[in-house]
Amino acid sequence: MTCWTCGAQLNQQSPLELRCALCFKKNYRFTRAISIGNYHGLLQKLVIRMKNQHDEPLTIQLGNLLANQIIDSELCDSVDLITAVPTHWWRRFKRGFQAAEMIADTVAHAVDLQFDPDIIKCQRSTQKQGTLASTSRQKNVQNAFRVNSSASLQGLRILLIDDVMTSGATVNEISRVLLSSGAEKVYVGVIARGARVS
Ligand SMILES: [Zn+2]
Repeated sequence: MTCWTCGAQLNQQSPLELRCALCFKKNYRFTRAISIGNYHGLLQKLVIRMKNQHDEPLTIQLGNLLANQIIDSELCDSVDLITAVPTHWWRRFKRGFQAAEMIADTVAHAVDLQFDPDIIKCQRSTQKQGTLASTSRQKNVQNAFRVNSSASLQGLRILLIDDVMTSGATVNEISRVLLSSGAEKVYVGVIARGARVS
């Protein structure tokens, strides 16, 4: 079973409608998240390999798998535009490889939708979310992003792509910014959902 709202793979059907035990208390601004699977086992190994080794063919393969999930979930008709979680220019400069951007570009080609990598700007550097506890993650990303002043989002339904969603703090904060700039809805697509399912 997959949680409709947060994209976590569940061992059993959730008794909650559209939500699961992991996300029912979360105040998500996005409507729905889609993932290939939980951040666990083989998928976890592949994501680590993708990020650490900057493995572009693997990134494209994972992007195509995510595109299949998005097609299966019948989300394509509800989306106008695809974008990706941005990286601060300094980290970008140091690393070069942008997993989220490459995944988003792959998904956009596969589902025949436009990808705009420049909608969201990272206005300050954030610490890596993986190193922080849940409450610190929220603070870490607060006001870290803004919408590019030339972007016109009025009424658009946006699919926001990232590599991994754990607490959801980053995609949630970006969703808040997109919605406050006129977007009608935000959906999230990630390779893996960092969820601990018992
Ligand atoms: Zn959930």
